[in-house]
Amino acid sequence: MITLNKVIYRYSMADSEKSANLEEVMHFNLEIAKGERVVVVGPSGAGKSTLLNLIAGFIQPTSGEIILNHQNMANIPPGKRPVSMLFQENNLFEHLTVAQNVALGIKPSLKLSREEKQEVIDILSKVGLEKEVKRYPHQLSGGQKQRIALARSLIQHRPILLLDEPFSALDQALRFEMLDLVNHICEAFSLTLMMVSHYLDASLQQFNRCIVINDGTVIFNDEPAALYQPANQTVAELLRLKG
Ligand code: ADP
Ligand code: MG
Repeated sequence: MITLNKVIYRYSMADSEKSANLEEVMHFNLEIAKGERVVVVGPSGAGKSTLLNLIAGFIQPTSGEIILNHQNMANIPPGKRPVSMLFQENNLFEHLTVAQNVALGIKPSLKLSREEKQEVIDILSKVGLEKEVKRYPHQLSGGQKQRIALARSLIQHRPILLLDEPFSALDQALRFEMLDLVNHICEAFSLTLMMVSHYLDASLQQFNRCIVINDGTVIFNDEPAALYQPANQTVAELLRLKG
């Protein structure tokens, strides 16, 4: 479903000490099966968002293949990839209702057919917002706002869902509730999920697989429980995981 084959991403960074540009390189090889739910962790600046942006198509690799649904999409624009991505900043429009914010996911003109309007309601009830359809984002809590953004992603019916630290602004109880909801939705819609998280707690166990990124590459790729095995002590220490 998602294959990154020798993906190289080069970029230059200003080096203030030498007043020159430093060439930096990230490289990714990865294979994720349809329906897997993968959590992506690693230190800040390691390249987690870069990895998701490469898959979504917001940035292009210098070389290598990004195969989604059996097709190399390394040079295909984001809108034409089978991918939807949700950021920590949910980018809701304050002057639009909950339903209109979701409708944007199918038609920027907001001129929906009766069937499409019904679909908006259906998706909103799947994320538990059926009563808030006519309200505005500022009338809702942080968790509810992320549900709107999630609904807007889901209505595009793209089989790959990428979440970049989507629940970091929420308190712990709500974060676990949202994780439950995401798990449930991935099952219901048969989605393949990659979610960046900076939480190294019990939430890791909710995923089929954990990928650890460090210095622009994958240094661990296994089931979450394997992080606690002696062989992976170095990775656990990097993440400051306690056994
Ligand atoms: P993470 O999400 O793991 O915190 P990011 O993927 O956002 O990390 O970024 C990794 C590093 O790569 C950061 O230091 C960032 O500044 C740098 N970076 C990524 N892309 C570019 C670019 N096009 N130009 C300059 N720096 C970049
Ligand atoms: Mg990031």
